[in-house]
Amino acid sequence: MTEIERHKYDVVVIGAGGAGLRAVIEARERGFSVAVVCKSLFGKAHTVMAEGGCAASMGNANEKDNWQTHFMDTMRGGKFLNNWRMAELHAREAPDRVWELETYGALFDRTPDGKISQRNFGGHTYPRLAHVGDRTGLELIRTMQQKIVSLQQEDFKETGDYEARIKVFAECTITELLKDDGASGATGDGQSCVSGAFGYWRESGRFVLFESPAVVLATGGIGKSFKVTSNSWEYTGDGHALALRAGANLINMEFIQFHPTGMVWPPSVKGILVTEGVRGDGGVLKNSEGKRFMFDYIPPVFKGQYAETEEEADAWLKDNNSSRRTPDLLPRDEVARAINSEVKEGRGSPHGGVYLDIASRLPTEEILRRLPSMHHQFLELADVDITKEPMEVGPTCHYVMGGIEVDPDTGSSTVPGLFAAGECSGGMHGSNRLGGNSLSDLLVFGRRAGLGAASYIESLPARPSIADADVDAAAKFALSPFDPPSQGVGENPYTLHTDLQQNMNDLVGIIRKPDEVEQALVKLDEIRERMKQMTVEGHRQFNPGWHLAVDMRNMLVVSECVAKAALLRTESRGGHTRDDHPAMDSNWRNTLLVCTADRSTGDALVPGVTVVEKEQIPMREELLDLFDIGELEKYYTERELTGHSSRKD
Ligand code: FAD
Repeated sequence: MTEIERHKYDVVVIGAGGAGLRAVIEARERGFSVAVVCKSLFGKAHTVMAEGGCAASMGNANEKDNWQTHFMDTMRGGKFLNNWRMAELHAREAPDRVWELETYGALFDRTPDGKISQRNFGGHTYPRLAHVGDRTGLELIRTMQQKIVSLQQEDFKETGDYEARIKVFAECTITELLKDDGASGATGDGQSCVSGAFGYWRESGRFVLFESPAVVLATGGIGKSFKVTSNSWEYTGDGHALALRAGANLINMEFIQFHPTGMVWPPSVKGILVTEGVRGDGGVLKNSEGKRFMFDYIPPVFKGQYAETEEEADAWLKDNNSSRRTPDLLPRDEVARAINSEVKEGRGSPHGGVYLDIASRLPTEEILRRLPSMHHQFLELADVDITKEPMEVGPTCHYVMGGIEVDPDTGSSTVPGLFAAGECSGGMHGSNRLGGNSLSDLLVFGRRAGLGAASYIESLPARPSIADADVDAAAKFALSPFDPPSQGVGENPYTLHTDLQQNMNDLVGIIRKPDEVEQALVKLDEIRERMKQMTVEGHRQFNPGWHLAVDMRNMLVVSECVAKAALLRTESRGGHTRDDHPAMDSNWRNTLLVCTADRSTGDALVPGVTVVEKEQIPMREELLDLFDIGELEKYYTERELTGHSSRKD
């Protein structure tokens, strides 16, 4: 039996971004003890990088806004493939979650009459993003951390120990979820269930075990599987892979959001995000001929909803009741594809992007007030002053719509005791997420997952147990990259990672061709084989090569999910564009592709992946009735529309 540091908690939350922290607060408010584990420093998660804002229909900037409009915009953005119940809960609850943040101490920008200010963003009918300049995520994390400290102070008063109910384990990576096989009778019906999580301290390399009947995954996305990405080193798909290996389903993995505006120059910063807030505040996209090309790319499903001339688009910026919105703010998938086409047709900028111009649209002081981080980012990294010259931008892998399949109301996965929230969960955003809908998603579903975990624990007749053999196996798996391969040449994890990223970028990127996706799958198989020879040098202390070797297993398995699902879906929808099937196909709208682990084709560490089709539950009739039948006909099959009120009359 391996000697290991052990901890016992009611709930373990893996991930300290917005979703994780909101789950921690909720589980603790229900009286449970919570460990929050994160592989980076506490406070350094993707949420902190969020710039533009948090979508909630508070109606402060336009009183016509309401949850129904937000719901409809979200469904349109996701091309009606969203889990409609999640989209409903999200739209209904987001305003309360934002107001609640103010009670934790958040300081949002204000309108002249003192309300929370809301800005325009792609796909949102009204100005809807509550924001703090272009540093909204920082405020979200700051206030939730502050709330956690206040809860710890309450616990201190009661118990004399600040960490009696919430303890942070920072720079600690979870590598394995542990399960009870059902023999302990924890769930009362003999089902196997989650019993804890196993990981290592990044600094010392020493192992740590959390015994816990409920685990909430809030580990974020998978962007580091792609070469050009706005995501940082943590986004290696750990939660996705941990859930898959524990027996949960992943859905929608073919849908990857390529944000239209990442930096394209210099090469060292390629992919870093340029917030959509630039376009929300009046910035426009132009090609090398100086043309505002987005007017040429309004797709049939959005015809009539967007301005058709520059004059109308500019009038909308001043008064969004009198005109239609600018096509510069079409949903992200549309804008990314448009930029891709302009560059391909030779109308790109010198470094392979297009131009984003705010300089000629707003006075210098306004740009500096509204977009301070963008100004700083371009000046420092590209020597470009955005108050004087346009930015060069192009698509960058930004967000994964796919993730762990969860029950919308409780965040529970298909594995008892395993919950998920935030970017690592799937369903809410369908085939394409609207900007600003992630921060609100984290708050709404982080809270629900915390509540779901609490209710689950209350329902358990006994605590699940952990078998020593499983702990030993987890330790052995984690250490395997230190064992020199018995034959052949040792493979370096950095080389393998570069090859994986190049493969995904080139062959499963923004436009997908079936023969290229097949090639990608062959290459993934080769990388899988080479990973058996993966070797790291040195010791367990401060060893980033080892950390990457462990993460590589997760990136490989999620990449396989993306590629396999992309090959199966023979249509183009949201974040999945097939060169050979360029149109949306109504017969695919209601079909989810569900990925599960297939042990017969892989091994315990990196299982193979099986993908099967599954139908979604039809939308409740009163929600369906919110949409005009003419709009639904663009997405739905005739058979599905028989429930719409206009067809019953
Ligand atoms: P994260 O905030 O990424 O947190 C993940 C946590 O999991 C981290 O603490 C990490 O250390 C931990 N973790 C991961 N793996 C492990 C492991 N194995 N063991 C232990 N811990 C682990 N969305 C908006 O709505 N509005 C915006 O304006 C916006 N701007 C963005 C700007 C940028 C540059 C980026 C990259 C994203 C932006 N997004 C925005 C998207 C949004 O920020 C993310 O989708 C969201 O923050 C994800 O939150 P999360 O809580 O799911 O994960």
